[in-house]
Amino acid sequence: MSEPFLFIAGHPALDFLNTEKADDAGERVELLAEPESVAAWLRASGMHPVPADDSLLSDARTLRDAVRSLVVAWTSDTPAPDEPLALLNCILATGAARQQMASDFTGQEIPVIPAPHPLLPLALSALNLLTRHDKTLVRKCAGTGCVLWFLDTTKNKRRRWCRMEACGNREKVSSHYQRHRKLADSA
Ligand SMILES: [Zn+2]
Repeated sequence: MSEPFLFIAGHPALDFLNTEKADDAGERVELLAEPESVAAWLRASGMHPVPADDSLLSDARTLRDAVRSLVVAWTSDTPAPDEPLALLNCILATGAARQQMASDFTGQEIPVIPAPHPLLPLALSALNLLTRHDKTLVRKCAGTGCVLWFLDTTKNKRRRWCRMEACGNREKVSSHYQRHRKLADSA
């Protein structure tokens, strides 16, 4: 059975990064295993459903790598790396449309390029994250070996874990255990 998707990041672009995670042993787990998983993820996240074909899978993984590099650069105060930036802009460019008015006085958007890229909603989401949010609130989970990202939308801005019931509790248990061991050692 395939693993369920995680929607815990507080932003769809980061939820998308979290389709690649680590298991308890630190092994990488790919949640976008086949084209249908990408379509299912888009559906589950409320984005426009797209046909699942092989190029969708490779495009989604390539875009995910690009967005991850951009998030890493952004949160470490370095300029956006060329290739990931070009890839994102290339998909964003397929959203270009020109405005026209119809005879019934309604405005229309005519796409300049016949079809937007199927992953355009994801690219727009990444653009939203990278240009309209506070980067100090974008963090990687503090859990040992955990690779999940989130946007801290808590009131006190002190979120540390992807999920309390996963990494948060594990860390609590291990520090509790270490405290006990220290006590036992000194006894
Ligand atoms: Zn975690």
